Amino acid sequence: NLTSRLSRVLDSIRGQGRLTEEQINAASRELRMALLEADVALPVIKDFIDKVKARALGVEITQSLTPGQEFLRVVQQELTATLGGTAEPLNLRTQPPAIILMAGLQGSGKTTSTGKLALWLKEREKKKVLVVSCDVYRPAAIEQLRIVAGNVGVDWFPSQVGQDPVAIAQDALAQARKQYADVLIVDTAGRTTVDEDMMKEIAALNAALTPIETLFVVDSMTGQDAAKTARAFADVLPLTGVILTKVDGDARGGAALSVRQVTGRPIKFLGVGEKSDRLEVFHPERIANRILGQGDVLSLIEETARKVDQEKAQKLADKLKKNKRFDLEDFREQMLQVQNMGSMQSLIEKLPGAQQIQAQLKNVDTEKQMRRTVAIINSMTRQERHFPDLIKAARKRRIAAGAGVEVQQVNQLLRQFEMTRDMMKKVASGGMAKLMRGLAG
Ligand code: GDP
Ligand code: MG
Repeated sequence: NLTSRLSRVLDSIRGQGRLTEEQINAASRELRMALLEADVALPVIKDFIDKVKARALGVEITQSLTPGQEFLRVVQQELTATLGGTAEPLNLRTQPPAIILMAGLQGSGKTTSTGKLALWLKEREKKKVLVVSCDVYRPAAIEQLRIVAGNVGVDWFPSQVGQDPVAIAQDALAQARKQYADVLIVDTAGRTTVDEDMMKEIAALNAALTPIETLFVVDSMTGQDAAKTARAFADVLPLTGVILTKVDGDARGGAALSVRQVTGRPIKFLGVGEKSDRLEVFHPERIANRILGQGDVLSLIEETARKVDQEKAQKLADKLKKNKRFDLEDFREQMLQVQNMGSMQSLIEKLPGAQQIQAQLKNVDTEKQMRRTVAIINSMTRQERHFPDLIKAARKRRIAAGAGVEVQQVNQLLRQFEMTRDMMKKVASGGMAKLMRGLAG
């Protein structure tokens, strides 16, 4: 994912000042790969990277974050902004019945989404909803909507194969008015590919109904094609929003960025499953994080920046890199830093791969043990801390007495120190994440 890619290229470079052009270019190459993997359309990637580059150039590297983390923060912010910034609600501000027209390719999820939206409007907004199918080519499609409407408990207006779609919609609208429905959702026919007849038909429906919402329904799993389809629909229809479906099957979320960029229209909902209640309001920030593949890494970064004295950690990492001896004072420093971070647990939960780390931590009563460790090291002499091999039986007894513990616990600490020292040797290069993982093990 992008987070690990960026730490590879950037975390070796440290320092104060601004992100350099060289650093930004290196990071942008990784970003490009990550977006390609997320299946974002090519022209969209280029635009997006240009924006990120422009913004990253002015960014100052603070003391607490690495260049990689700073860059990631810029990407996350830009991605969220490009995806619309904040959630945009469905617009129903019109003389009822508010008409919602569903447009999109066959199989994109129009009929399913019509049912989901009807349920959502009924339950969340307490609206009275009527649905109608203008898919006059497939009897099964009309029947499908009838069943869905029955399942979610909203009214369904009958239609038949061969009728004129515009006439059906107008009849349904008259019926909606008559029964004082708040919302009329018009499901339409799609083709398997963009085709002129379909476009003419949907454009005619749109012109006749002048809906308050013309929603483009698009399958997120179609990846690169989603952008092309979006362009075709946006060209003939004044789209007001997008429903991105089958997001449950697509872990990458790249279609969201493509579709938003190409249509310029807000994504309003996500379809996250086949059932009628599997509809979510779209939140740009969540999808941004999904595209970056980083779980809750940004809040982790913030937390780390707040609580860890990065400079000290860096000194330690540098020392290790230079193959200097890792002694008990370094060990104590580590312990103090971890204590300083407070709840280790909440921090670790946010790391990608958290479960493994937690499993490792399970047997250790970290907080208590760390405090004891620090107390024991405090009662050693400087010489003992630098040369732990000096600590034999007599010294152990003295240290134990000084710290108010048993000799056994001094032994335990020394073993723990040795294990840590061995492990630190294996940590090839610094980096806070590695350091922390090291501490946890
Ligand atoms: P339409 O031709 O545009 O009306 O598409 P449908 O609503 O008939 O949906 C086509 C297929 O996609 C059906 O099998 C749906 O169950 C499935 N589908 C629709 N939305 C979602 C979704 O959000 N997640 C999943 N997993 N499947 C969906
Ligand atoms: Mg359908």
